[in-house]
Amino acid sequence: MVENFGGNLSFHPAHQYSPRTEQEVLDILSRHRGSRIKVIGRLHSWSEAARGDEVLLDLRHFNQVQTEQRPEGVWAVVGAGCQIKLALVELDRQAGVTLPSVGLITEQAIAGAISTGTHGSGRHSMSHSMEEIRLALYDPATGEPVIRTITEGPELRAARCSLGCLGVILSVGFWTRPKYNIEEWISRYPTLDEALASEVDSPLQQFYLMPWAWNYLVQHRKAVDTPRSSLAWLYRIYCFLTFDLGVHLAILFFERILSGSSVIKFFHRHLLQLAVVRGRHVIDNSSDMLVMEHEMFRHIEIEIFVRRAVLPEALSLARELLSHFGGDKNALSETTRTQLAEHDLLSAVEAGAGRFTYNFLVCVRKVLADDTLISMASSDEEPCYALSFISLAKPAERAGFFQFAKCLSDCMVTLFAARPHWGKYNPLTAQQAAEIYPHLPEFQSICKQLDLAQVFRNDWINRVLFNQPEASARASAE
Ligand SMILES: Cc1cc2nc3c(=O)[nH]c(=O)nc-3n(C[C@H](O)[C@H](O)[C@H](O)COP(=O)(O)OP(=O)(O)OC[C@H]3O[C@@H](n4cnc5c(N)ncnc54)[C@H](O)[C@@H]3O)c2cc1C
Repeated sequence: MVENFGGNLSFHPAHQYSPRTEQEVLDILSRHRGSRIKVIGRLHSWSEAARGDEVLLDLRHFNQVQTEQRPEGVWAVVGAGCQIKLALVELDRQAGVTLPSVGLITEQAIAGAISTGTHGSGRHSMSHSMEEIRLALYDPATGEPVIRTITEGPELRAARCSLGCLGVILSVGFWTRPKYNIEEWISRYPTLDEALASEVDSPLQQFYLMPWAWNYLVQHRKAVDTPRSSLAWLYRIYCFLTFDLGVHLAILFFERILSGSSVIKFFHRHLLQLAVVRGRHVIDNSSDMLVMEHEMFRHIEIEIFVRRAVLPEALSLARELLSHFGGDKNALSETTRTQLAEHDLLSAVEAGAGRFTYNFLVCVRKVLADDTLISMASSDEEPCYALSFISLAKPAERAGFFQFAKCLSDCMVTLFAARPHWGKYNPLTAQQAAEIYPHLPEFQSICKQLDLAQVFRNDWINRVLFNQPEASARASAE
């Protein structure tokens, strides 16, 4: 049985392979012509994007990293199954360079990370920087397994974030950036305006809406040329003990042992605020400063991307929904009630009253507009902000989280054309996907050209991205 990191997805593929060479991949495609084929990275998605019930490929042996000095800079080709953490070490070792952006963790395979639009360090998503994607697929003219390299145009924009729909990604090529340092310091602000204003001095910052205290903790970050602080190692230990371990253990304790909404509210309003050292500036290399060990504790997450223009309204709605689900009977304002009623959302939201006490921090991260067709930050215009909601509840006790997450997603999608992360819990419907992704028809048509038999998909992808229920997807593929 195959199970994802979050423990919310498990399946039994009929055939499973870990090929070592491109020829082996082609042989597998040849052997399973007509079957549905899915590739997994490191199964760190909570959505059904990686589900593969028929033929499942794991490309963990495709983990080479090759760098080449060219006049424009250092070009890298990385094997699809290479974990981000290995890529970071190898890029540094071979050429003193690093990835253009990284997520919060480094466990993912590079192809898995780009295929869902993974982002994290205040820039574009990782998908945006991919310039060359090498794919194994069936030749649309002959039906034979072949290898194609995509380097430009709409096909590249589709392949940069495709949930695996175009074929088996074998490797990716991109321009690296020279290693750089990040200066970080932490502040607390009472209002969103103040938290956002501080972006001028720290463009790579991320911040947290502290539930129940409803103030903002900002992790200021900017790229600097100055050397690493002599005490950076101590800061790393502090971050590990306070955030990676301490906050998670405390929330687990409140979630699973001393449960009760007044205790968790006290923790957020008083204890957590005291544990954070504010105002100290520390400089460390980007690959240490921008990531954390967030994968140490199994959890589930939904992340909603909203445009900059609607961020204040979206955060205000999130606060109302969190309070309402947490049991505050007066949490929903009259304006919100009217808006939700107009869109037939009010009764579902009302049914969630008191059903879920939120225990984690709400992380808010900026993502610059991506040049892709369907990554969450895909846009020609303004940057967006990604709002993460996390639960550490045991897999069997997540009913409250799912009810909250579905309401949150429906409300945000309907009112703000928000986009839920493809790799996180994603309750999007086909109709919603069509409304919020203007380039979806172009993506669909490229998929149909490159994957004529429609085999590089699963039921969930067929349903949400192609508006094809299972039976009609089978029929149209045949
Ligand atoms: C603890 C934790 C922290 C996270 N932090 C962040 C974060 O900071 N920012 C963020 O944006 N996301 C984050 N994520 C989400 C994660 O980055 C994405 O879900 C990512 O897609 C997972 O990568 P993976 O290698 O595990 O891929 P999988 O989950 O295994 O697969 C993801 C998709 O990629 C496809 N795929 C994988 N490899 C190939 C291939 N070779 N060819 C074709 N298709 C392929 C799969 O079919 C699937 O559709 C986090 C997840 C966890 C568990």
